[in-house]
Amino acid sequence: MRPALLDPLFASLASLPGIGPKTGELFAKLLGQESIDDCRVIDLVFHLPHSLIDRRNQPGIAHAPQGTIVTVSGRVDRHQPPPRGKSNVPYRVFLHDDTGELALTFFRARGDWLEKSLPVDEQVIVSGKVDWFNGRASMVHPDFMVKATEAETMPLVEPVYGLTAGLSPRTLRKAIEAAVERVPSLPEWIDGPLVARQGFPAASEAFSALHHPRDTLDLDLQTPARRRLAYDEFLAGQISLALVRQTLRRVAGRPVTATGVLSEPVLAALPFALTGSQQTAIAEIKADMATDQRMLRLLQGDVGSGKTAVALMAMLAAVEAGGQAVLMAPTEILARQHHATLVKMAEPAGITLDVLTGRTKGRERDQNLERIESGETNIVIGTHALFQDNVVYRDLALAVVDEQHRFGVHQRLRLTAKGISPHMLVMTATPIPRTLVLAAFGDMDVSKLTEKPAGRKPIQTVIMPQERTGEIVERLRAAIAEGKKAYWICPLVEETEESDLMSVEERHATLAGVFGNAVGLVHGRMSGPQKDDAMQAFKNGETRLLVATTVVEVGVDVPDATIMVIEHAERFGLAQLHQLRGRVGRGAGASSCILLYKGPLSENGRARLGILRETEDGFRIAEEDLKLRGEGELLGTRQSGTPGFLVASIEAHGDLLEIARKEATYTLEKDPQLESERGQAIRTLLYLYRRDEAIRFLRAG
Ligand code: ADP
Ligand code: MG
Repeated sequence: MRPALLDPLFASLASLPGIGPKTGELFAKLLGQESIDDCRVIDLVFHLPHSLIDRRNQPGIAHAPQGTIVTVSGRVDRHQPPPRGKSNVPYRVFLHDDTGELALTFFRARGDWLEKSLPVDEQVIVSGKVDWFNGRASMVHPDFMVKATEAETMPLVEPVYGLTAGLSPRTLRKAIEAAVERVPSLPEWIDGPLVARQGFPAASEAFSALHHPRDTLDLDLQTPARRRLAYDEFLAGQISLALVRQTLRRVAGRPVTATGVLSEPVLAALPFALTGSQQTAIAEIKADMATDQRMLRLLQGDVGSGKTAVALMAMLAAVEAGGQAVLMAPTEILARQHHATLVKMAEPAGITLDVLTGRTKGRERDQNLERIESGETNIVIGTHALFQDNVVYRDLALAVVDEQHRFGVHQRLRLTAKGISPHMLVMTATPIPRTLVLAAFGDMDVSKLTEKPAGRKPIQTVIMPQERTGEIVERLRAAIAEGKKAYWICPLVEETEESDLMSVEERHATLAGVFGNAVGLVHGRMSGPQKDDAMQAFKNGETRLLVATTVVEVGVDVPDATIMVIEHAERFGLAQLHQLRGRVGRGAGASSCILLYKGPLSENGRARLGILRETEDGFRIAEEDLKLRGEGELLGTRQSGTPGFLVASIEAHGDLLEIARKEATYTLEKDPQLESERGQAIRTLLYLYRRDEAIRFLRAG
C-alpha cells in the first residue's frame, strides 16, 4: 500500500487549480501521456526548469543591449493608439527614464485596458525584451507591467520550463508551483552521516530549490539539491534491483547442460563460419547457464556483428537441456523477421519455433498458448506479449531480449513475480557504459562481439543538401535497373502543422511517380499485416525501393539491400543514423549511404554528420556523440537527466550511483524486509520514484 503521505502527489493532475479539460490535454501531451487521467501531480514535480529569466538586469533604457531581457523603471509620457480602422498598426505607449525613451508596442491591444495599466505621468516598471531599430528602443508586449508602488509583485527571477505547443508558460508555471507546494515533508531515507557528508537538503526542500532557482548556478547538475534527488533516484533503482536479486537468490537456478545434438547440425548447415568473438560469446553463455546461478549477461555487438546467431546457439543449448527459450524483440516487424530467419537456420535441428505478438489473435493465439504450455513449442519469438500473464511456459530456461536494454529489468521483474526466473541474455548494439549497465541492471556480466563477419565491404557514406534529391533519384534509377535494392528513410509519418518536412507518404507518392510498382512503403501507423507484406515484398524483390520511417531502424535484415538514403539526416541522433545505416552493408555487395540534410547546418550539425562519414565503428560514434553533446551540457542547454531517469544523469552523478549501490546492499543486509523506521522510509522512496513493483518481493509487503 502506498503511504497516505504521498496521496496528494499521486492525485490526478486534473485536481490542480487551473487545469481544465482543454489545458488537460496539453499537459498530457507535455508529459508524454495519452490523457490527463494518466498524469499525476508528481509528474509535474519532476518536470524541472531548464533555464531561467533574470529580470534583475536594469541598465537604463539607453544601455539596454539589443535582444536581451531588461527591467525598466520609467515615467509614462503619452499613448499613441492606432488610427481609426487601422487595427494592424500597433498601439504604442512611450515612457522615459534618465537615460532615454522606450516605446512599448502592443498589437491588437485594448486601449482602455492599457490606459488603466499605464496611466500618463505614472511611474511604472516594465520587463521584457528590448529591440533597437534606427536608434529607437522598443519593447513588444512586455512580460510584466506594474505600477512602481506594486514593484514587489513582479518576480525578478523566473524558472523556464519545457513547453508544448499551445501551453502558455504562465499556465504551466502556476500548475507546477501548485504541484511543488503539495510535496509533503518526507521521512528521511538516507543514512544520517551520508546526508551530512554530502550536504544534502531534505527531499522536499530539494524539490522546492530546483523549482525556485535564484540564478543560473542553481540550475547546475551539481547543486546539493539536484545531487540529493539524483541520489534518491539511484537509491530507489538500486534497492529495487537488490530486492529482485535477493528473491532470486532464494530459489536456485536451472542448470542447462548443452549436449550439442541440436547446435552441431545447425552449425554445420550455416552458410558461414562463426567469428572468433561469436564463438567466445557462445562459450561464455553456455558456461554461465551450466551453473545453478541464474545468468544475467549482456551481449554487446555493433550492428551487423551477428548477435542473432549467438542467440540461436544459446537457445538451442536450452532446448538440448529439455527446456524452452524465448526471444523478445522490441517491434512486431523484428519479431516476425527473427522468426522467419531462425526457422530457416534451425531447420536441421528439427525443433518447433512459434511466434507470439500482440497481433497473434483468436484461434492461432489459443493454439500457440497451448503448445507453449504443453512444451511442444521449443522456442518462442515475439514481443512483450511473451511475458503477459496468460502465457504459461512449461519450462522456460532462457529468455533473450533483443535490442532493448531498457526493458531488461522490467521484464525480469515480471517473470520473477510469476515465479519463473530463467537465464537472461540481453542483446544490444548500443555501447552502454558500465555505469549505465549498473544503473539499469545492477551487476551484470558482459560479452562483446568485437569483430565483424569476414567479407564485409565498407559502406561509402556521403552527405548532401536536400536540394540534390533529384540527382539521387537519377542514381537510384540506374541502380534499380541493375537489380539493386534501396531504403529511403523519412523522419515523419504524416505532415504535422508546425513542420515543412516531407512526410513518408508524400515521398512514397513522388517516388512511385518515378519508379511505379517497384516502390514499397512501411511506417508505424500501418497495420501489422500491411507492414509484414511490405517487408516481405522488399525482401523477395517484388519491390526494390522501400520508403520507410525509423520502424526499420533496429535489426531489420535484408542482406541484398545496398543503398540507404536518409532524408533530414540532421534531425536524427548519431546513434540512430548509425543503426539506420547498419541496414545496408550486410551482404557481399558494396553499399552506400546518402545523408540528405536541410541546410543551413550548424557547425555542430556538420561535425556530427562528418563523424558518420569518417567511421563505421559504433563505439567511436557513440563516444564522439557524447563529446559533441557534452559541449551542449557545458553551455547549459541540456539539463535533463539520462534517458530512463527523471533527475539523475549518469555522466554527472556517476559517483552517487556507486554510493547508492553500496548503500542498497548494506541496507537490505541489515533490514531485508524494510521493516525498520528507515526501511519504511525507503518504501516511501520506492513509491515516489515508481519502483514500488519491487515491494511485492517483500513478504510483509
Ligand atoms: P546484428 O548483430 O545486428 O543483430 P545479425 O545477427 O542480424 O546482426 O547479422 C547480420 C548478418 O550477418 C545476417 O545476415 C547474418 O546471417 C550474417 N552473419 C552472422 N554471423 C556471420 C558470420 N560469422 N559470417 C558471415 N555472416 C554472418
Ligand atoms: Mg539484431
